[in-house]
Amino acid sequence: MEELERLKRSKTLTVILDENFSPVGRMRLFSQGVRPNNRLVRYEEAVGDKGCLTCGNCVDACPVVREKERFEFRSNRRTSMSLENIVEDECRRCYRCVRACPQVTPGVKEYATGFRRAEKFIHASLATLIFTLMGTGIFLYHYKMHIPELHAGIYGVVHNLAGILLIVLPVVYYLIDKNHFRRLIDGAWEKPLGTGEWFRQLKAFLRHPFRDALPAWTEFNPYHKFWIRYLCCALPLLALTGIGNFFGEAALGKSLYGACSVLHSLIALCTDLLILLHLYFKLLRFLCRNIGDMFRNWRSRGDFHYPFLYARKEVASAQGGHEQPSH
Ligand code: SF4
Ligand code: SF4
Repeated sequence: MEELERLKRSKTLTVILDENFSPVGRMRLFSQGVRPNNRLVRYEEAVGDKGCLTCGNCVDACPVVREKERFEFRSNRRTSMSLENIVEDECRRCYRCVRACPQVTPGVKEYATGFRRAEKFIHASLATLIFTLMGTGIFLYHYKMHIPELHAGIYGVVHNLAGILLIVLPVVYYLIDKNHFRRLIDGAWEKPLGTGEWFRQLKAFLRHPFRDALPAWTEFNPYHKFWIRYLCCALPLLALTGIGNFFGEAALGKSLYGACSVLHSLIALCTDLLILLHLYFKLLRFLCRNIGDMFRNWRSRGDFHYPFLYARKEVASAQGGHEQPSH
């Protein structure tokens, strides 16, 4: 435990966990390794061995492997080194590999698990606020005239409150987790967007969502950068125009109020469309690929659930060199 505290203070763990490379091999080295209570028969000879057990738990747990290898894991690629080779710089910092590894000690696992808690809280809050603004904004814009005044007033208050919280959110993020706030801003703004190759891959994927590989999904990929940059520009503009709308025509004059309303609606519309795109990237594309995998399995084998874990060739050779239908 003292060792862990020393590591935390030295920021070594922070640096490793914030990189886009698989952390499990290095987390293993900070752990105690096989201990007497790991029930080895001759445990006295193995105390402190921090080597990889080739159990493959980290490979099975990793979402990037599942996506890149299309559910076809190979039994000879079940080490932390294989994981690093497959994941390359596309690690999503989910730390499932660290949690799944029997060689990583509980203290390190706990530290890794809580490492991004503030980031996740801010992300969940941002999503909740944007969806609240989206719902109440659309409702007020289209149906304000058709609902009782009291209801419209309540929606208006919720909308304004969510808007204020949205403006305050970056400040909260900075206060509770300066390092990750800076990391996000630096990562989004430090380099050009670099959209060329990414758009080519995206177009290929959209044309054949069940066949072509997904666009490179490294952190701070062009879409990710664009989304953060967009939010950095759109949120202040939404706030300013929202304040203008709040004070109304009497205070601002007809032309300024009109400009505020139009700009506010336009930015809100763009944000809503980008949210839909975001949902597609986060959820729908996985659904598309899963349906594609299920369909292919059904055509080739007559069921939907097989094979998900090991390569067909290996299963086939285990069955005598031929792929057998499972029914
Ligand atoms: S399980 Fe998560 S943290 Fe580990 S390599 Fe895969 S994406 Fe990275
Ligand atoms: S989970 Fe297993 S394969 Fe992965 S690093 Fe730990 S011991 Fe090695």
